[in-house]
Amino acid sequence: MSNETLQAVRGMNDILPDEAERWLWFEDTVRGWLDSYGYRNIRMPLLEPTALFKRAIGEVTDIVEKEMYSFADSLNGDQLTLRPEGTASCVRAALQHNLLYNAPQRLYYSGAMFRHERPQKGRYRQFHQIGVEALGFAGPDIDAEQILMCARLWRQLGLRDITLQLNTLGDAAARQRHRAKLINYFEQHSSVLDADATRRLHSNPLRILDSKNPAMQQVIAAAPGLMDELEQDALTHFDAVQQILRRHEIAFEISPRLVRGLDYYNRTVFEWTTTRLGAQGTVCAGGRYDGLIEQIGGQSAPACGFAMGIERLLALMQEDGMASPAATLDVYLVHQGEQAGVMAGKIAEQLRDAGLRVVLHCGGGSFKSQMKKADASRAPYAVIIGDNEVQAGMATLKPLHGGEQVQLAFGELPGKINQLLKG
Ligand code: ATP
Ligand code: MG
Repeated sequence: MSNETLQAVRGMNDILPDEAERWLWFEDTVRGWLDSYGYRNIRMPLLEPTALFKRAIGEVTDIVEKEMYSFADSLNGDQLTLRPEGTASCVRAALQHNLLYNAPQRLYYSGAMFRHERPQKGRYRQFHQIGVEALGFAGPDIDAEQILMCARLWRQLGLRDITLQLNTLGDAAARQRHRAKLINYFEQHSSVLDADATRRLHSNPLRILDSKNPAMQQVIAAAPGLMDELEQDALTHFDAVQQILRRHEIAFEISPRLVRGLDYYNRTVFEWTTTRLGAQGTVCAGGRYDGLIEQIGGQSAPACGFAMGIERLLALMQEDGMASPAATLDVYLVHQGEQAGVMAGKIAEQLRDAGLRVVLHCGGGSFKSQMKKADASRAPYAVIIGDNEVQAGMATLKPLHGGEQVQLAFGELPGKINQLLKG
């Protein structure tokens, strides 16, 4: 047996405590933001039937063709997939539990998604999203509200330089006409198409527009646009979304080439992008998916949603020189001697009763070595107790970021520390 150290799966990251503190801060901020728009949390399994994603995302997409972690359950042979995104699961759960019966729902989830992509900065095989779904809303007010929400979050996170790309994919009939024109056009340029595009030419030509292959960009740029095909209803909807955005002074660019990588979208689609993260510049993306609920087996209902990549947003905050989150500890309790140890245990609990965050030193050692640990803990205060102090009923309170130490009766500690922390 080899005793080589085992490593995490490629593209799947450990988030160590220093970084996890930033994640917690981010998640707290996001939760307050979602609360302020009336979105409610939902939690779905990480594993779903493979058929769900094939049906929702589309068979002829990068995700379903190349990126899913799918396998047969070794016990019963069921075809399962680690979720590559959350919308399909969220809609599945809402339908399974009748949440949509007469009641539109504003829902959000947060968690790991899995895609077998080439790992690089900002692109991982396990990554994390916050997803927001408004089920049962026909818009355009909800489309615009979701975009406004994003803009507010960027402000709350202190992020600048994120730009909004907006497009409409119209409705089914327009897309059919557009599809026929695309097939015709790309057939005439078949020599430029790569293997993926050639394969998708007749099954899903819209996907060709989403290709990142530099060699095809020129042909893609000149492809027939969807705008010419749009029906009046879809145009009116799109205009209304833009009007609300203007009213709220949200800047945007119309990107006729923005089609999104998943088949379920129609009408409004949007992406928030930055130029500061290299090639992985999309931090948030979404749009309307009026056909999905019916496609998954429910009664037809309109819906709109978006998802943001947590790793990319945190990377952007690092780029912007995000300040470290506040310390997570108030007191490090240092003690030496048998009686002092017993008393320290009691005092630690009393301090916690008073709402303080306390680490009670464990593992013995000299006062000097314990004080080093206290400094490293980043707590603003150390409380020091030796057997002499126990006799006198007093402890030493030592500020670790400068200031004079003081002697206090045990009973005075909680009040004094809380007072100092507030001051
Ligand atoms: P991209 O074009 O970058 O591959 P996508 O269109 O596949 O993105 P979506 O499915 O719309 O991405 O997911 C929403 C967001 O989740 C993205 O905008 C991005 O921030 C994040 N995301 C997607 N895939 C990854 C990944 N492999 N690693 C890290 N974040 C990701
Ligand atoms: Mg992708």
